[in-house]
Amino acid sequence: MCGIVGGVTNSNIIPLLLEGLNRLEYRGYDSSGLIVLSETNTFDRARSVGKVKNLENNLNERSNKIKGNIGIAHTRWATHGEPTNLNAHPHISKNSVSVVHNGIIENYVELKKNQIKMGYKFKSETDTEVVAHAIDHAIKSGKNLIDSVQDVVKSFQGSYGLAIMSSKFPNQIIAARKGSPLLLGIGTNGNYVASDQMALLSETKKFIFLEEGDVAEIKLDKIKIFDLDGNLVDRPVINSKIKAGQVDKGNYDHFMQKEIFEQPQAISCLLYTSDAADDSLRVDLGGRRIIKKRVT
Ligand code: GLU
Repeated sequence: MCGIVGGVTNSNIIPLLLEGLNRLEYRGYDSSGLIVLSETNTFDRARSVGKVKNLENNLNERSNKIKGNIGIAHTRWATHGEPTNLNAHPHISKNSVSVVHNGIIENYVELKKNQIKMGYKFKSETDTEVVAHAIDHAIKSGKNLIDSVQDVVKSFQGSYGLAIMSSKFPNQIIAARKGSPLLLGIGTNGNYVASDQMALLSETKKFIFLEEGDVAEIKLDKIKIFDLDGNLVDRPVINSKIKAGQVDKGNYDHFMQKEIFEQPQAISCLLYTSDAADDSLRVDLGGRRIIKKRVT
């Protein structure tokens, strides 16, 4: 399960996508990719195996530079299919729908069989490609993008954090999550989606954390969120206190080295002496709080 970043902005989004991917590197990954909608509403995609640096080189080497104001990007940690260019995200269906995905679509074999019968051709070995084809099929039946996504996610078993674009609906990104984290970033120059707030810290500190089953429509000037039952909902906007530098490599050579040297600081953040009457020592592990009796 790896990284997603995307957004709808009023200027070229490529630098923001690359910055986001670089900030997601600390999570580990085997390949990366991005896609934008060009001025003529066609997809322009780049994918590379290995470091995000390889993707940057891939973009720099092109004579026709990729640019666009709407885009999505991904760092992949392969679960289905080798780490290759063809399996790297984003995946595209019929030049109409593009998808990046974190997680696993467990029933993809069955969905894939049906889509092959419908005439869809598969270009990757991933579980993710069925998502793109399913949405394309729903759009062809006459639905708009958000209705299509709301409709097809009901057929997915497993986990997903999804960011989706369509050349037929060029002013928006749809985000959907189940069992995989996803948040929205509210900026002054646009609105964003990411799997981790680190990816967007250079752009905004205002985040909305999507809840299980939420589907969101992200446009330049507004965001709409629908819950599992399709009701339009308000989710709280959180002002993040995390600083971008907290996830930089800093002066360390690599993230593992940083992690090793920061262990004393991390442990002291986890442990604090309680002011509880029983003088217990509290260990804060995020979600669960384990209370141990102080040994005297
Ligand atoms: N299951 C997908 C794949 O193998 C997504 C992996 C991920 O979360 O990076 O392509």
